[in-house]
Amino acid sequence: MTATTQAEALVRADLLVEALPYIQRFRGCVVVVKLGGNAMVDPALADSFAEDIVLMRSVGIRPVVVHGGGPQISELMERLGMVPEFRDGQRVTSAETVDIARMVLVGKVNREIVSAINLHGPLAVGVSGEDAGLILAGARHPDLGFVGDVHAVNPAILERLLAEELIPVVSTIGADETGQAYNINADAVAGALAEALGAEKLIYLTDIEGLLGDVADPASLIRRIDAPALQALVDDGTLSGGMIPKMAACLQAVGHGVGSAHLLDGRLPHVVLLELFSDAGVGTMIVPEQSA
Ligand code: ADP
Ligand code: MG
Repeated sequence: MTATTQAEALVRADLLVEALPYIQRFRGCVVVVKLGGNAMVDPALADSFAEDIVLMRSVGIRPVVVHGGGPQISELMERLGMVPEFRDGQRVTSAETVDIARMVLVGKVNREIVSAINLHGPLAVGVSGEDAGLILAGARHPDLGFVGDVHAVNPAILERLLAEELIPVVSTIGADETGQAYNINADAVAGALAEALGAEKLIYLTDIEGLLGDVADPASLIRRIDAPALQALVDDGTLSGGMIPKMAACLQAVGHGVGSAHLLDGRLPHVVLLELFSDAGVGTMIVPEQSA
């Protein structure tokens, strides 16, 4: 290994100094980070994400991780000889399918994220939306089976974990009043938790640079947009597929007290740190109307 030159050392010092005002500003703030199914498959990226989360916690930010796992659910269903069925992009969820979704999300994906974080600091605790009444769910539509919507959030369990300086990692299974489990879209859960916790930021790590004005053109990246302008994009059909629930959740969150929402490229190592602690504008920032 070559020794660090003085010039390189100065660059590193500059980076740390650049981070200082951000560290001071976000100390004590809740930041909800949603990890997309596609941003979780590369082990090296999973490890850099885990480092970012532990670093956030170490400088006094209170991160809450929410994860999806659609591709992993489909993979297990296929291994079991089941055929995933989608209607308007939503998984038709039989009793058997919700059982599999719960096994995969709570038993596998959640465990992998908790374990990756705990390699860097023994702080992560896995939580399902069913735990301590965190997420009260109800059926979205009779034709979709056990696909749920968030009806209410009781963030007490998360507040208790955060008060103990732990890092909650949330699987997006909710339960209704009878205890029936529902599989809920992780984008919607992340938004609802950010709102309930009064989060400063809601961050979506996904598999694209950010919100694109034209999904076929990477040069059309929108760096900053306020809620009314985003609502106009939603209304005119610029969004498709998985971007629809994400942007609906961002609008809901920034409309209800969350400081800003961010769409970041989870394929870039340490992209969360760049967003939080540097002047580099990464991805798309969504702000409420007044501060645009
Ligand atoms: P995640 O696992 O992060 O939820 P999704 O596949 O559900 O990922 O959502 C991200 C995808 O949304 C992108 O890969 C892209 O194909 C799609 N998408 C649709 N419209 C847009 C848009 N206007 N800008 C960016 N991505 C879009
Ligand atoms: Mg998605």
